[in-house]
Amino acid sequence: MKKPGLLFVVAGPSGVGKGTVCDVLLRRAPSVFKSVSATTRKMRPGEAEGVNYYYLTDAQFDAMEKEDKFLEHFEIYGNRYGTPREAVEKKLNEGLDVLLEIDVQGALAVKQKCPDALMIFLLPPSFEQLERRLRGRKTEDEPAIRRRLAAAEAEMGHMSEYHYAVVNDDPDLAAERILRILKEEKTRPARGTGEVQIVR
Ligand code: ADP
Ligand code: 5GP
Repeated sequence: MKKPGLLFVVAGPSGVGKGTVCDVLLRRAPSVFKSVSATTRKMRPGEAEGVNYYYLTDAQFDAMEKEDKFLEHFEIYGNRYGTPREAVEKKLNEGLDVLLEIDVQGALAVKQKCPDALMIFLLPPSFEQLERRLRGRKTEDEPAIRRRLAAAEAEMGHMSEYHYAVVNDDPDLAAERILRILKEEKTRPARGTGEVQIVR
C-alpha cells in the first residue's frame, strides 16, 4: 500500500489570484493532482470541459448531489460548484497530493469533513490590489465586482481558520511559498492547531 497523498486547499476571495498561482504550482509540481470541479456556470472562452470544470446542467448537478457524489458543494454568485468526491479519494490513495482550489465556504466545509486537510488562504497584498485585479480580469460587470468585494471582506474574517495565509504579491513567489509549506507539512506527524501563520 502506498502512503496516501496530502489533501490541501487553496482558498481566498474571488480575484486574489488562486487560479494564477495554482497554475504556476501545478507546472512546478507535476505530482500534484488538481481536482476538477463540477459547475453549472457557462464555459468561458479559453476553457475546456474536464480541464477547467465539468460543465453540468442544474438537473445533472442535482443528480450528483442526490447520489452524495460531492465532497462539498455550494452556490456561489448564482452558480453551483462542487468537488467530485471519487477522483479526490482515488488520487489520494494513489499517493498523489490533491489540490482543491475552491471558495472560502467550500474550504471550511472540507475542513470539517477532512480534519487532516492542509488549509491555505491566499491573501492579496492589500484590498486595493484585490479590487484592481478583479477589475483588470474583465470577467465581471460592475455589480458583480461590488458583490465580490463585499464578500471578500467577510471572507477575510475567516482567515484564522486556516493553517497558513500566503500573500500573493507575485504568482511565482506565492506558488513557491505554497510548495515549501507542502514539503514541510508532509514530513510533520500532525497539523498544527495554533494560530494561522502568515507567509510573505
Ligand atoms: P481567482 O482565481 O482567485 O479568482 P485569478 O487567478 O483569476 O483569481 O486572478 C485575478 C486577476 O489577477 C487575473 O487577471 C490575474 O492575472 C491577476 N493576478 C493574479 N495574481 C497576481 C499578482 N500576484 N499580481 C498581479 N496580478 C495578479
Ligand atoms: P469561477 O466561476 O470564477 O471559475 O469560480 C468562482 C469561484 O468558485 C472561485 O472562488 C472558485 O475558487 C470557486 N470554486 C470553483 N470550484 C469550486 C468547488 O468545487 N467548490 C467550491 N466551494 N468553490 C469552487
